Amino acid sequence: MSGIMESIQERDPGEHEFHQAVEEVMDTVKPVLDRNPEYVRAGILQRLTEPDRVITFRVPWIDDEGRVRVNRGFRIQMNNAIGPYKGGLRFHPSVNLSIMKFLAFEQVMKNALTTLHLGGAKGGADFEPKGKSDHEVMRFCQSFMTELFRHIGPDTDVPEGGIGVGAREIGYLFGMYKKLQNEFTGMITGKSLGWGGSLVRTQAPGYGVVYFAVEMLATRNDTLEGKTCLVSGAGNVAQHTAEKIIEMGGKVLTLSDSSGYIYDEEGIDRKKLDFVKHLKNIKRGRIEEYTAAYPQAVYTEADTGLDYNPLWDHWADCAFPCAIQNDIQAKDAYNLINHGTKLVCEGADMASTPEAVAIFRDKKILYAPSKAANAGGVAVSGLEMAQNSMRLSWTAEEIDNRLKPIMKGIHRTCLQAAAEYGEPGNYLAGANIAGFIRVVNAMLDQGVV
Ligand code: NDP
Repeated sequence: MSGIMESIQERDPGEHEFHQAVEEVMDTVKPVLDRNPEYVRAGILQRLTEPDRVITFRVPWIDDEGRVRVNRGFRIQMNNAIGPYKGGLRFHPSVNLSIMKFLAFEQVMKNALTTLHLGGAKGGADFEPKGKSDHEVMRFCQSFMTELFRHIGPDTDVPEGGIGVGAREIGYLFGMYKKLQNEFTGMITGKSLGWGGSLVRTQAPGYGVVYFAVEMLATRNDTLEGKTCLVSGAGNVAQHTAEKIIEMGGKVLTLSDSSGYIYDEEGIDRKKLDFVKHLKNIKRGRIEEYTAAYPQAVYTEADTGLDYNPLWDHWADCAFPCAIQNDIQAKDAYNLINHGTKLVCEGADMASTPEAVAIFRDKKILYAPSKAANAGGVAVSGLEMAQNSMRLSWTAEEIDNRLKPIMKGIHRTCLQAAAEYGEPGNYLAGANIAGFIRVVNAMLDQGVV
């Protein structure tokens, strides 16, 4: 096992996020390998950690001043043992190979947990949509697709949204694919409702996170009713996590963006959340503007010089990190616990560092890793693919009625796998083990390819 990590570190130097994601899985699947030596003999670990395909490409585009700009595009097709590659796109200046590979690796496990037939992939570009005009975003998306289109398709690889890639970007990407291939197919999910999108897809990751949290609380005969909740982020996942918490009777105290966070002691109710949705999705403004509308709220600017995130330094029952990876570090974990937090449920991918996760485990906090808790997004993407194949649309109620049992099923699967391999109540171990076994068994069936 340690040999595998060393060899990955040697072959892929500097890919810290990828190493972190792989190491976390390796640590937890050891009992599975001990019980199934055939996995080791089949070189499963080496095969699982080497992407099927890494595609990087130049994305040239012209800004509104007529200057030529160049970004780097990525698509990591990690594993398609259980279905076509599936995973989001991220447009953010921090995007690099390591972040793409970590996200693609996580996606393989996450998609396996949904029980749908979806392989794992991730893509994106080091492009910053913030501050760009609609025309600039369109030209970028079109250029991005002029390369990506040859690698994707409804039975090959089906991207979806993610950080910096919302309904606007999906529309431009779909439009260019359709023009290049002369095909109207479900080659991307998160489409608008008028042309092949699925109801509830936008809400699904956030709603699913809260459904998962509700299941966790139920194991301790508890509910979300009356619980105070810290939520980070103010994008798609954060908005819909907050929406569902409010619907379930919880009180949301915080939201953030990369510039800072707001703390509203009175709670962010539906009306205030509608204000945030308009601010972020339509006006494309900053969360600081919340305090102009609701002056009782306190805004704190982000300070990258700190070794903790002050958003997590408040009294609250539950924490829902929904912004970015490694948002909760060791000091944040202690701050949360010292302020009475009993549940941490990740909306953002790999939202907590391994040190923070170890502290949650040690202090017996209910902790859900993103690959289990936020799988509702990709699950409804799978349902969007099914609707596209049938050329039918289900109602919101039908989809929500499928999402809820999927999240319940993932919760149950995590607990069962964890218990079977001697880690009762450890959702991280359970998620990794259950996802790993499903993918690995398919790989064994399909031979060395
Ligand atoms: P959005 O782009 O809609 O929102 C991201 C939010 O995180 C924004 O508020 C953004 O602020 C904030 N943010 C970004 N970087 C930082 C930072 N360094 N510090 C603090 N805040 C930051 O993305 P999503 O809501 O879609 O995605 C959030 C997370 O959820 C990601 O980890 C994503 O991979 C994951 N996810 C998303 C799914 C989806 O379907 N959308 C599905 C499953 C997981 P700002 O506006 O300033 O950049």
